[in-house]
Amino acid sequence: MEISAVVGVDCPACQATASFGPPHIMGQFWFTRCRICNYYTDEPLPPLGRKRVIYLDQFVLGNFVGGSDPFWPELRKRLVTLSQLQLIVCPYSEVHRHESLLQHDLRDVLKDLYQSLGGEIHFRFPMEIEESQLLRSIRWFLKTGHESPNHVRVKDAFQDDPNRWAIEPTIFANMSTNSAIVEGVRAYRDSLHQGLRADFEEWHKNPRTFDEYLIEHARRHGQRLLAQYREVAPPTFTPEGLPSTDPGIMLVHWLGCEVKESQADSSEPLAIVARFLESDAFRQTPFVDISSRLWAIIAERVGKNRKTPQNAKRSDAFDVKMISRFAPYCDAMFIDRSFHAVASDDRMKMDEDFGVKVFSYPSKGEFLDYLDEILASMSDDHREQLALVQPQLTSVLSFLGRDKATQ
Ligand SMILES: [Zn+2]
Repeated sequence: MEISAVVGVDCPACQATASFGPPHIMGQFWFTRCRICNYYTDEPLPPLGRKRVIYLDQFVLGNFVGGSDPFWPELRKRLVTLSQLQLIVCPYSEVHRHESLLQHDLRDVLKDLYQSLGGEIHFRFPMEIEESQLLRSIRWFLKTGHESPNHVRVKDAFQDDPNRWAIEPTIFANMSTNSAIVEGVRAYRDSLHQGLRADFEEWHKNPRTFDEYLIEHARRHGQRLLAQYREVAPPTFTPEGLPSTDPGIMLVHWLGCEVKESQADSSEPLAIVARFLESDAFRQTPFVDISSRLWAIIAERVGKNRKTPQNAKRSDAFDVKMISRFAPYCDAMFIDRSFHAVASDDRMKMDEDFGVKVFSYPSKGEFLDYLDEILASMSDDHREQLALVQPQLTSVLSFLGRDKATQ
């Protein structure tokens, strides 16, 4: 599109002189309007290449606000620059929202911060990601789908395309925080932790090998889901009879519906769901696979530590959930130091199997190098598009990311 017009041109609809334009950006479009007759056109902005998706743990945001190490302002500066250059996106998630609610003093600051880095891009709820992945797996298992269980799609995790232009100042409503919601979040977190106490004790009493834990975790996860469902469900499965809106129960019910759809004459869809939950297809589902690996490493540590019956942290359940659901959709994650030892264990193979680099405070220098590399590899096409859409950047674009050694 021609954007040389600083003032308007003659209107193609009413022919009024110099009344059409100049174009301005609205969302993902150039928008040009005639101020006389209101005739308008919209044209999509040029498509961007693939942005790197970077997940920042909540503690990173906390340090942007109160961290004493000069690393934090340095990191923040680079992230903001790369976001403005449309090279990265740092999506926010339910986890950020939850944790921000719990940090009372910093609540509003943190919210502004993650929204400024993520723009409008946010992860879907973990439950939605689980559904998309399990749908692929059960269809593979039932031989009604051809995508393998370990395959992922961007759509699983994001409603909006993360590669869209992020240039508009995004306005978020600053809702007042309901104390009942905060209490709910706290209770949820505690319940996640409570549910694991029995496991910790079991790991401590009967230490096993990593591979045994791996299978055991997936199996238990499936069994728990099913038992929870059977407790409330009527004896005969019907697609119309959703027994409860509890997330786990909805998930099992919805798997039953998928079975029923492909095998209409099946009298016992739940028996087939049960077989699925014991299958390789279930175990290879990315969130099941990653959380099993993480728990196996945590369990092994708990098992080896013979003195204290419980040395898994309160936040572990939260961290496992976040990493296992989001990692396959990220290029890099910067996570809590104490969890880094678990996530970077050789057996996790996060980069090899899921294409995500995991960084933490001890590897902060490498993380800055990783970000510099993104800037340095900015293509000329990308520079041209930026100059077109964000002309205010033109003056810096010629040297940004170039010839780092001589700077
Ligand atoms: Zn007109």
